[in-house]
Amino acid sequence: MKVGIVGAGLVGSTAAYALVMGGIGREIVLVDLDTKRAQAEADDLLHAVPFAHPLTVRAGDYTDLAGAAAVVVAAGVSQRPGESRADLLGRNAAVFRSVIPAILESAPDAVVVIATNPVDVMTHMADRYARDAGARVGCVFGTGTTLDTARFRALVGAHVGIDPQHVHAYVLGEHGDTEVLAWSSATVAGIPLERFCTDRGVCLVEADRTRIDQAVRGAAYRIIEGKGSTYYGVGSAISRIVDTVLAGRCSVLTVTAPTPDVLGIRDVSVSLPRLVGGTGVIETFSAQLSDAERSALAASAATVREAIDLVPA
Ligand code: ADP
Repeated sequence: MKVGIVGAGLVGSTAAYALVMGGIGREIVLVDLDTKRAQAEADDLLHAVPFAHPLTVRAGDYTDLAGAAAVVVAAGVSQRPGESRADLLGRNAAVFRSVIPAILESAPDAVVVIATNPVDVMTHMADRYARDAGARVGCVFGTGTTLDTARFRALVGAHVGIDPQHVHAYVLGEHGDTEVLAWSSATVAGIPLERFCTDRGVCLVEADRTRIDQAVRGAAYRIIEGKGSTYYGVGSAISRIVDTVLAGRCSVLTVTAPTPDVLGIRDVSVSLPRLVGGTGVIETFSAQLSDAERSALAASAATVREAIDLVPA
């Protein structure tokens, strides 16, 4: 199966590397405005293939995306010194206004996975441009808090001494400062986290929750401070999402997608537990939340909606 990656920068090419290492798909096509970069990344990635799985990796243009089952969009421009958030959003929206129809023209049946930040706003805009181009509902969604959810589960697992595979917990809302760690519905081995800790004598006090919350919420800041940007984590999250789509796995992932109403906030894209399969987002589940978490999620959705309103029409 063919996977397209539009934007062969750090995130896009790391996602491609994760696909190669995981043997996900059979053909990867890298498309970038900077054709030299796309070619160089494809050549470099191809050298990893003999050590991984039989895959082809090549650079191409939009027409080479024909037949792709999934196309990842990691294209974008970065903030100029002194540039306002609204101006940056406007410039990235302009990139998407040309990129999204171009993808769908060549690959009308592809699931389009948005990774460009701010991912909630960019996903909302991508869906709008995709619909204008005649795309079906559900085929566009974004990485959202997939990575934050994985971090949350890993930290809870480490705290209680259990493999995170057996921890279920979600990070919801905006992928960013206002995201909501849904502690009240967290389970370990199918047992509510609180009860699991009480029964096993594991101490889980407010200070532990705060530490984990800050570690999840602040992870990207710390990485960016140390090395300038983040890409391994999100690249791996992208490969997991693409695998889910290609295999039609029906996984529950906290991806971001346009939603008619999130706790009273209309027409907004935030992360919620969503059923993801071969056609994209199939269904959205309503998370069980405490009153405080519900208010925080509503506030988070409102923050994203305000940012969407900043994007010039
Ligand atoms: P990140 O760290 O988010 O991957 P980068 O700046 O490394 O950011 O990568 C963004 C990539 O998006 C760059 O390779 C850039 O050339 C590409 N890009 C920007 N605008 C477009 C566009 N209109 N079409 C395709 N690729 C684009």
